[in-house]
Amino acid sequence: KLYNQVQDLKGSIRVYCRVRPFFPGQPNQLSTVESIEDGTLTVHIPSKNGKGRKSFNFNKVFGPSASQAEVFLDMQPLIRSVLDGFNVCIFAYGQTGSGKTYTMTGPKEITEKSQGVNYRALSDLFLIADQRKDTFHYDVSVQMIEIYNEQVRDLLVSDGTNKRLEIRSSSNKGLSVPDASLVPVSSTLDVIELMNLGQRNRAVGATALNDRSSRSHSCLTVHVQGRDLTSGTILRGCMHLVDLAGSERVDKSEATGDRLKEAQHINKSLSALGDVIASLAQKNSHVPYRNSKLTQLLQDSLGGQAKTLMFVHISPESDAIGETLSTLKFAERVA
Ligand code: ADP
Ligand code: MG
Repeated sequence: KLYNQVQDLKGSIRVYCRVRPFFPGQPNQLSTVESIEDGTLTVHIPSKNGKGRKSFNFNKVFGPSASQAEVFLDMQPLIRSVLDGFNVCIFAYGQTGSGKTYTMTGPKEITEKSQGVNYRALSDLFLIADQRKDTFHYDVSVQMIEIYNEQVRDLLVSDGTNKRLEIRSSSNKGLSVPDASLVPVSSTLDVIELMNLGQRNRAVGATALNDRSSRSHSCLTVHVQGRDLTSGTILRGCMHLVDLAGSERVDKSEATGDRLKEAQHINKSLSALGDVIASLAQKNSHVPYRNSKLTQLLQDSLGGQAKTLMFVHISPESDAIGETLSTLKFAERVA
């Protein structure tokens, strides 16, 4: 029994990597990726003598041809554990354009085949809940928020209001953003409608040159409450599906004003997230949750019995090697 617990704890932080395919119509280029073998990704590093390379280990690496269904298959056990009363966090990390939104949501025009993790996770949740309906009754509700410049915004408002929300600091079992809309859902269709509303709200204020979605973190939180029909026992689990802001470093000499401020906020919150996960992975007694809104928000769902999946994304283009290496270093640190 104890052995199992230790195993469970060890397995509570997992790191996956996904390499985006080249864009269609792009002239043939040499990929940054030299090889993918099991959980090892080897990348080319341009150097004076021509042939640098470095390998990075992951729990799983998905190449450019991996399908959405294939990627989701490896996440399915996490969905099941939410219904068993665990808290789960799934993060998509990477530079802008590396495929974070593709993994979590899908491409611009979403078909059934190209649906991302969010849709699949919710459909799976409903499916498993239905299979258990003779023994459990489940209630599912969702929240969707955005963190932009260290301010929390509700993405599920229908009237476009833009109230700043507070994060509840106490770490008791409850909602960490009690004032954000909490919407009960009972089918995948409900979820699709809500996600569309969230996407529309997220786009408010964004211009072509100022794509806000790449500079804010968006978080879809699924709250699940299960009642054991015989004993009456209540189980609570929740799942946070987080599409992080782009991790690219901004050239300080080029960015000014708002752009610089955004970049500093992103930088700070991504490194705070890295610090929290790294200290959990090392089993440090002090975990620095307080350093960003993102880590405060997820405090109850990071560490302890909770399960975390950090899903890093990289672009295959060789001119992205600088950002690719910094993404891989981030991943190495939290593994
Ligand atoms: P990010 O959210 O990290 O900025 P996107 O998910 O928007 O990146 O991806 C950038 C572009 O690449 C989009 O047009 C997206 O549809 C496409 N894309 C990303 N990953 C894949 C993939 N695995 N297969 C096919 N197209 C992809
Ligand atoms: Mg995106």
